[in-house]
Amino acid sequence: MSVHRCLPALSRIAAISFVVLAIGPAPDAFGSERKAHRHGAGTLNLAIEGRNVEAELEAPGADVVGFEHAAASDAEKQAVAKAADQLRAGATLFVFPEAAGCRLIESEVESPLLDEKHHDHKGSDTDAHAEFHAHYHFRCDRPGQLTHLDTTYFETFPAAQALTVRMITAGGQSARQLTPKTARLKF
Ligand SMILES: [Zn+2]
Repeated sequence: MSVHRCLPALSRIAAISFVVLAIGPAPDAFGSERKAHRHGAGTLNLAIEGRNVEAELEAPGADVVGFEHAAASDAEKQAVAKAADQLRAGATLFVFPEAAGCRLIESEVESPLLDEKHHDHKGSDTDAHAEFHAHYHFRCDRPGQLTHLDTTYFETFPAAQALTVRMITAGGQSARQLTPKTARLKF
């Protein structure tokens, strides 16, 4: 699993996320078993350790392709494939200052929408929310120049309205909210 390849800091963010969820607002009617997301709202976990930047993006299928059922028509299948390509293109989705010299080392995208077996759940589990999960590893030659990050996430996926960011840097832990109007994350 991708989680095992992440920096330790990212695992710590996962733990923090769990705490945030635990003390956050009560889950809505859909949040019975599976972690429910809110349409329009994705999450981004970010860890910067030295030259390494790890990012994990969780985006509702509704935000990325406009649906969360198994792709049925050719148009839906094409939409899912295109979205996966767009999510995989981490260097386009996340733009660091040029002076920092960051390169995308690896990226991977997972989603039940990419899985044929998702068909099996159709009908029996109509309230299920499906997400895209993307993992990125960047390496930066001059991490001292890492002042901010711009994301094209909202332009790429216009249905997305917010991105909750949980971040660990040398300066500590913090949480932010990005929106189409404030798509720059300052470190
Ligand atoms: Zn959903």
